Amino acid sequence: MYKLLTPGPITTTQSVKSTMLQDWSTWDCDYNDIVQAIRRELVRLATPAPGYTSVLMQGSGTAAVESVIGTTLGANDKLLILANGAYGERIEEIARYLRIPHSTLNFSELGAIDTTRVNEALSDDSEISHVAMVHCETTTGRLNDLHAVSTIVEKHQRLFIVDAMSSFGGIPIDMGALGIDFLISSANKCIQGVPGFGFICAKTTEMEKLEGRARSLSLDMYQQWRTMEEHGGKWRFTSPTHVVRAFHRALEELGEEGGIGARHRRYLENHRVLVEGMRNLGFKTLLEDRYHSPIITTFLYPEHPAFSFSRFYDLLKKNGFVIYPGKVTDADCFRIGTIGDLNKQDVETLLKRIGDNMYWTAEPDRQRA
Ligand SMILES: *Cc1c(COP(=O)(O)O)cnc(C)c1O
Repeated sequence: MYKLLTPGPITTTQSVKSTMLQDWSTWDCDYNDIVQAIRRELVRLATPAPGYTSVLMQGSGTAAVESVIGTTLGANDKLLILANGAYGERIEEIARYLRIPHSTLNFSELGAIDTTRVNEALSDDSEISHVAMVHCETTTGRLNDLHAVSTIVEKHQRLFIVDAMSSFGGIPIDMGALGIDFLISSANKCIQGVPGFGFICAKTTEMEKLEGRARSLSLDMYQQWRTMEEHGGKWRFTSPTHVVRAFHRALEELGEEGGIGARHRRYLENHRVLVEGMRNLGFKTLLEDRYHSPIITTFLYPEHPAFSFSRFYDLLKKNGFVIYPGKVTDADCFRIGTIGDLNKQDVETLLKRIGDNMYWTAEPDRQRA
């Protein structure tokens, strides 16, 4: 047994896991009522403003992103992608696969989104109809400034799509106040469910316009939404019933914890204890503090000739913690996630396991002996 210090799947509670021990029929109201309760709760978490709706979509988070990109843009539309990491670049890759006209402002993995350039791009290109960005760029752990971008997108009156996959539920976001038209997340991140579906919260008047636009049958977000709306929570195709049930329990536990504000504070504390402790052990973070999210943190490899990430990883795993390899192109690094059913004590135990042994400097042979 180990704790997952990764940004999804994450460590779930025993009670979330145990809800999956029952098989559910998808044909009657018991199950569909759960789906409807989930949809309402997601909207409630996304904004206090009226006029928003939600839809659940089978698959990984990327499937949900692909369903939004593939369903929202019409034949004459164009997407502007703001990228500073692998997940922003993945939106670009989706647009390329689906042959959707697009342009990308790539600020590089180590760069912040430059709103002056976003403003220029929207002023210069009137064909751009939609803007997409990632909130917490899980590649580095950077928290992008939604508010700054939202002001510009709103000024230019374009539609705003946000991949809030790794932040929704763990960081307060008011999509109404931020003018977000489509917000995407998934079951296995900050809501603390298990993997199997993604979801989209959307402005209802924008969702209603999307009939016939999708470039894929199974990822037709509009038809999925309409079926759920008209048939009381029914999915078009086989739904991940166990995962949905677990997610419903996870939402209840989010409420029991005190809501998104309380969860955010727990994650902030996890992150603070982690960064402080790692720095005391001599590790350096990739990003400056002001860019950090409380979701996941990137640390540079220590400058020790004996350091081997795979050995470090294996030894921590044996000691009850699974960390995450780095994903940044130009730096040797690894990542530690601080979301899921984890608290400050877990982070302190992790730091102790690292500090007690300094595994990363140990010789492999001595370590095995
Ligand atoms: C996890 C994540 C995704 C989706 O990843 P999947 O592996 O498809 O679930 C998308 N965007 C961000 C920012 C993420 O953190």
